[in-house]
Amino acid sequence: MLDKLATLADLIDGVAVAREIRAEVALDAAALIARGVTPGLTVVLVGEDPASAVYVASKEKACKEAGMNGETIRLSATTTQGELLAVIDRLNADPAVHGILVQMPVPKQIDPQAVILRISPDKDVDGFHPVNVGRVWIGDQTGFAPCTPAGVMVLLERAGVKVAGADAVVLGRSTIVGKPMTSLLVNASATVTVCHSRTANLAAQTRRADILIAAIGKPEFVTADMVKPGAVVIDVGINRVTDANAKNGYRLKGDVAFDAVRAVASKITPVPGGVGPMTIAMLLKNTVRAAQQREQQREQQRSEQHIQHPSVLHP
Ligand code: NDP
Repeated sequence: MLDKLATLADLIDGVAVAREIRAEVALDAAALIARGVTPGLTVVLVGEDPASAVYVASKEKACKEAGMNGETIRLSATTTQGELLAVIDRLNADPAVHGILVQMPVPKQIDPQAVILRISPDKDVDGFHPVNVGRVWIGDQTGFAPCTPAGVMVLLERAGVKVAGADAVVLGRSTIVGKPMTSLLVNASATVTVCHSRTANLAAQTRRADILIAAIGKPEFVTADMVKPGAVVIDVGINRVTDANAKNGYRLKGDVAFDAVRAVASKITPVPGGVGPMTIAMLLKNTVRAAQQREQQREQQRSEQHIQHPSVLHP
């Protein structure tokens, strides 16, 4: 029994790391506020999807706890695409708004890609605009990476996992998780394999991983025999599984069969309490960075004006 306990993987505690990030964000926000700039995130919610309403409320609360402005614009489910784009144009032009997030999914009369393209890349703290996708791919530090994979990178770093030179396998190739995860890992010098529903002999691929990221949306899909002994396993999956004994009638499960894989891996994230809490923390971090970058741009513009027209500023 003692031997068995000794071989269980260490837990990577996403709640604790998210708390650290939020405390760091609050310090950065306070420094900006001291210079007269309050970082602000505006979330736009179209319609009354109950799960979206819960996410949006928690984003607004997290902003306020970090000393930032958090505003939610609620639009009716019948909002047209033109009306939503007009709201985004107004937010793009508002200097008090540093981050804009349109909560997905949007009702079917609205094209989500048109919405993403309309948000100014400098305010796209979700990191879905193609300009940010490109910036992240080329390693441009001013780009915003999507919050969930960015959160995974922070978890790896703070858990002391050596990413450079590691064989990383990303299970899933979505725009929200798998693809940006791949670019962040490549830029951190991992050797990355991306797997998806058409991958042949999936277990042979996953067994090569020093770092295995599971993001496929299938409860307990990754079993112990798919994991290399000593691997670091990050479980992005959040799946509702019916459970008559649970208070809400369901239980949250990750994409990894946690108990069995914990006996093989060296480090592992739980669900809940692993990657999940990092997503909002990274959204706050992106928003405060958007405000910092805007201030840097303004300072640069002021100093350029000074060089071109010194007498205007100092008559
Ligand atoms: P998507 O459904 O968009 O993508 C799933 C990916 O998994 C696809 O690339 C798909 O392949 C692949 N896949 C599906 N089935 C298999 C299979 N049997 N074998 C191999 N690959 C497979 O999901 P998301 O990326 O949006 O989300 C993934 C999970 O992460 C979900 O559980 C979601 O709830 C969770 N999530 C958690 C977040 C957090 O804050 N922690 C945030 C976002 C997501 P193909 O491309 O070929 O179809």
